[in-house]
Amino acid sequence: MGRQKPNKPRRDSTKGVHRHPGLSLDAGPHPDGWKADRALLEAVTGAALARCTSCQGVTLTLLVEDSVTCARLVELACEAITKREGSLPHNQTDPDASGYASLAFRRLARASQDVTAHRMYQECEQMTVHERRAAANTALDTLVGYATLPQGLLTRLRHATADPR
Ligand SMILES: [Zn+2]
Repeated sequence: MGRQKPNKPRRDSTKGVHRHPGLSLDAGPHPDGWKADRALLEAVTGAALARCTSCQGVTLTLLVEDSVTCARLVELACEAITKREGSLPHNQTDPDASGYASLAFRRLARASQDVTAHRMYQECEQMTVHERRAAANTALDTLVGYATLPQGLLTRLRHATADPR
């Protein structure tokens, strides 16, 4: 089981934030035991999709303090890329390949290729908030970029992430 924080009181991550519909996580547990903050993940992706900078600022500040939810966001972006491209392209994982993905995102994306998610979540936990912000920004850019594609990939992704896993 991954490390969870069952006793730590969660802040109300959506307080004072508009309601922007974002990605919904399945209510069930992550297969490897990591427990992301579903409300926060929906708020941060919703703000990004709506391009609401005030909400994005608030929610990103919360997200970078929550390494599990940050890692889950990166994991979703990696899943979206893999669904579309068939695999993670070189420039999403290799720190030396040219491309827009932040180095922190690439580090987590590399770790996400393990059989289990543990290494990725552990790497994210060890990151500074600055690195997490860089990783989250690439993940959000990816998800927003895919959401604007006409094929409605985000809808399919949403359904896919709602599957029991
Ligand atoms: Zn807003």
